[in-house]
Amino acid sequence: MALEEIIATLRARGYRITLPRRQTLQILLRAHSHLTCEQVHQRLVAQGLDVDEATTYRTLQWLKENGIIAQTDLGLGADVYSLIDSPLHHHLVCLRCGRISEISDSLFEPIRRQVRERYHFEPRIEHWAIFGICAECQSNEKGKIEPGNHGESGE
Ligand SMILES: [Zn+2]
Ligand SMILES: [Zn+2]
Repeated sequence: MALEEIIATLRARGYRITLPRRQTLQILLRAHSHLTCEQVHQRLVAQGLDVDEATTYRTLQWLKENGIIAQTDLGLGADVYSLIDSPLHHHLVCLRCGRISEISDSLFEPIRRQVRERYHFEPRIEHWAIFGICAECQSNEKGKIEPGNHGESGE
């Protein structure tokens, strides 16, 4: 998706494209990754814009409501925002080591289909995180379990 293309889509819906809105989009397009609201805000300020974090947050929410970006909890302490672009991707997030890996969107096709069929609900599965335990941490944990401590991992 190109910047002007997205802007044209939003204008067609009757929105005014203010400078902070345009710059926020540009930052997310250039980042090619996930940014927190704080990171987007820092970049806006670095570009000379006089906006606060609350305004940045509202801009991000507006982009999310318009299906341009996704807001995701990747277990980083703050939600991240990223452009919804094709092909879609999703993540596995390890609760032990925090490792984040990417998974294919095809996994979610059966879920989308069933949600539509059973609930007549149009799901938006654009950038999901599945939390769990990665293969490496699973084998580490198996090795660590000692008799008597019931496998409590502590920290
Ligand atoms: Zn992602
Ligand atoms: Zn792990």
